[in-house]
Amino acid sequence: MPELPEMENYKKLLVEKIKDNPITAVEVNREKSINTSVDSFRSKVGGSKIEDISRRAKYLLFHLDNGEILLLHLMLGGWMYYGTDEDKPDRTIQVKLSFGEKSLYFIGLRLGYLNIYSEKEIGYELQDLGPEPLDINFSLDRFLEITSSKRGKVKNTLVDQHFLSGIGNRYSDEVCWHAQINPNKQMNDLEIIEKTQLYQSIRHVLAEAIQYGGYMGTPLFKGDKSTGGFLNYFKVYNREGESCQRCGAILLRQEVSSRKTFYCPNCQK
Ligand SMILES: [Zn+2]
Repeated sequence: MPELPEMENYKKLLVEKIKDNPITAVEVNREKSINTSVDSFRSKVGGSKIEDISRRAKYLLFHLDNGEILLLHLMLGGWMYYGTDEDKPDRTIQVKLSFGEKSLYFIGLRLGYLNIYSEKEIGYELQDLGPEPLDINFSLDRFLEITSSKRGKVKNTLVDQHFLSGIGNRYSDEVCWHAQINPNKQMNDLEIIEKTQLYQSIRHVLAEAIQYGGYMGTPLFKGDKSTGGFLNYFKVYNREGESCQRCGAILLRQEVSSRKTFYCPNCQK
């Protein structure tokens, strides 16, 4: 499932492509991918402009100039493509927003969705999300505060969206490897120095993943060289049986509360 860096990468690239362009056509091929009738969706979205695109946790928010907001969650298997009917991938399209010649195609939205909300409704939808880990106001003190009474395994805590926004299965493993902390360790067993390292690793890993374009395996548009650049930089995720880049030990795969988890049994304490 795309996590914070993948959605941030999409946001940065899409702002350059579609911001302030009028939506000239709306096509919905799967009504379950939206939260209203196709007619209502088309009348609200068609003819409007995307004034801005923002990200919250693993969501993208397309802010329309009529005050409505499209809330995208790709969930498992969802992705996007921006281009023409000629160069688009040969895949089923659930929703298509056209901007003149070019369109934004939403693909693989089976569990994912592109819902429409008012400003007020969107606040309600997103109200339970924890802080953004890369927010400048998200300080070490704040992190120590929210972890002070936190129980449960480190892995489960990192992916808990009420605790912290945007980290999922892949980056939680990368963060634990970077921090040299075993993902099975209990939060309340972490020393202050380990929590400090965890905080720094969260910020470092996510920032680096954004810098390299996240891990989505398909380009957003023809000639897109940045999306997916982080695929080569994963240290542990899906690397079971390979040598740890830090200590040389063989990386393990384990289920932690039924989540696939990869770590080094030697240098992650
Ligand atoms: Zn190691």
